[in-house]
Amino acid sequence: MYLSDTIAAVSTPVGEGGIAVIRISGPDSLQILDSLFRRKNDGDFLSHRFYYGEIISPGSTVAVDEAMCVFMRAPRSFTCEDVAEIQCHGGTLVVEQILALVLAQGARLAEPGEFTRRAFLNGRIDLLQAESVIDVIRGKTEAAVAVARQHSKGALSAALLKIRDQVRQSLALVEAYMDFPDEDMGEQDTSRLLHLLSGSITLTGSLIASYEEGRVIRDGVSVLIAGKPNVGKSSLLNTLLKEKRAIVTSVPGTTRDLIEEIINIKGLPVKLLDTAGIRMTEDPVEREGVNLALERIPTADLVLFLLDSSRPFDSDDRLVAESIAGGRVLMVINKSDLPGRLVLPNDLQSIPAISVSTATGECIDDLKALISDSFLHGRAVDSREYTLLTRARHRDALQGVSLILSSLNETPEKLVHGELVALDLREALDLLGQITGETTPDDILDLIFNQFCIGK
Ligand code: GDP
Repeated sequence: MYLSDTIAAVSTPVGEGGIAVIRISGPDSLQILDSLFRRKNDGDFLSHRFYYGEIISPGSTVAVDEAMCVFMRAPRSFTCEDVAEIQCHGGTLVVEQILALVLAQGARLAEPGEFTRRAFLNGRIDLLQAESVIDVIRGKTEAAVAVARQHSKGALSAALLKIRDQVRQSLALVEAYMDFPDEDMGEQDTSRLLHLLSGSITLTGSLIASYEEGRVIRDGVSVLIAGKPNVGKSSLLNTLLKEKRAIVTSVPGTTRDLIEEIINIKGLPVKLLDTAGIRMTEDPVEREGVNLALERIPTADLVLFLLDSSRPFDSDDRLVAESIAGGRVLMVINKSDLPGRLVLPNDLQSIPAISVSTATGECIDDLKALISDSFLHGRAVDSREYTLLTRARHRDALQGVSLILSSLNETPEKLVHGELVALDLREALDLLGQITGETTPDDILDLIFNQFCIGK
């Protein structure tokens, strides 16, 4: 019932544009297009060919707009259904009028992500691939898009299928013995089973281990700049952004609010947060800025602890050091172009540190490399294998799989209870199926597809 109706939506962004695309998918696509589209020569509407003509309201002779239209016969389309696309002028009103005509001819307005959902339900892509479509659209860096594109081509699905095949083979082995309750599993089959289990545990483990990196590449990291007033926090932000955004001034305590910018550091999407200078203060407005900075410190993936090399370490620096203790910290000693007067206290000497000058740009590239290395462990983002996990949903399911398989592998005596082992293996298969979409509950599917915009 769900797939028997024909859906339509504008697939290009809202607002004015050179062209807009209205997409129609479902059994009535061609009929709807034919009823609205007037071509020069009325021959057969060939699949996958562009035609030029006009969109005309049925019963009228006045054209609403010129258009280029294409019809894609099922299953050779994005949704695997009959799909028609109308390219018209990208004016808000024109697009609305044409969409209204399409709907009046019997199509229903598509829900968010419904085209992609149909591609998934019709088996053209699996759930991982559907999810990666969002990531291709939203990717902020080349690496993020590259990973998403690999996923959309099925790289991660292939890795999961490999695990699934091994678990299936294990299950087949166990089930073969369940038919003969009097027979114990032979030595050869037991060792084959253990071999299969440990193989899938290794594969699962390496995917789980890739999550940290995958998450960082997809979602980016937040890096917070903390330091007492006047150490050069805004200057550092500006240098990293390469444009003047935050106000740089020599009056201490000027950045009262948080300033947030997203930049690309060696392929890594980094949300940079510049905060108010941290110090003891009586001024209530400044105090608010300091509190805001202190509140955000624990939420950052990395804190850049900024110090001024031209001034001695003082109680304000100590206050900053205490506020950021416990998290991942990189000490940035700024103003290396000035004569040095900073002596680091012993207890801070083990924190990774770098000397820079935002005034001369000295070592700023090294700082960027350190930031990216602290998340990507020195590997360049564009030279990696792209089978990285990027979503917590996938990691959680795989952790479940790993737990089940490890518990079987570590207690071989359990293997004699065929029914129980089979039950465990089926649960592992179910978890794997939840990732690729075969056994994903409907409410999770709704959540996933609702992240899409209408028209995708
Ligand atoms: P914030 O209060 O920590 O945000 O510090 P600002 O970025 O506003 O900088 C405070 C002052 O230090 C300004 O006068 C900057 O021009 C100066 N400053 C910042 N970085 C450097 C640097 O690397 N070398 C020198 N000589 N001065 C700097």
